[in-house]
Amino acid sequence: MVMRVIKKSGVSATERDTVVRWVKRCLREITLKHYELPVDYATARNDLTLTIKQAGHRSSACAKGITVDLSPLKRNSTEILEYPAFAKDPVIGSQVSVKAEIALAATIAHEISHFIQYRYGPDTRWLKQTFRKPHGEGFQDIYRILRARVVNPHLV
Ligand SMILES: [Zn+2]
Repeated sequence: MVMRVIKKSGVSATERDTVVRWVKRCLREITLKHYELPVDYATARNDLTLTIKQAGHRSSACAKGITVDLSPLKRNSTEILEYPAFAKDPVIGSQVSVKAEIALAATIAHEISHFIQYRYGPDTRWLKQTFRKPHGEGFQDIYRILRARVVNPHLV
């Protein structure tokens, strides 16, 4: 089974492949056995619908999948702009002067964290109590794994 990918107009095949590559890296990391999610990589990949657009709205996520907006990549944005509550955190916070693809990767990791919290939070022991709040403790725990293991090694 493969991931469902919806590519909106204006998104090139190369851009789609870049987004898919980071989505897979995030899913492969967070479904490692020791994180105790109730799914393996193949199942998570199958559970997620990925929509890629460049309409200038924000990226978003729900229990069914994520939507990635490529506008920041198109204008070569080199900033990771995080939610105020944890913007100053050294691991999951904002960053300036990163490569545009890494800024995109952080956005993807952020949205994948939302997907994981809503989709699997209720059935994951360490997320059960904390997954509900959109940018709360459960979300931050997931995002911290993805930033530390997938995105931040590429920060310069
Ligand atoms: Zn968010």
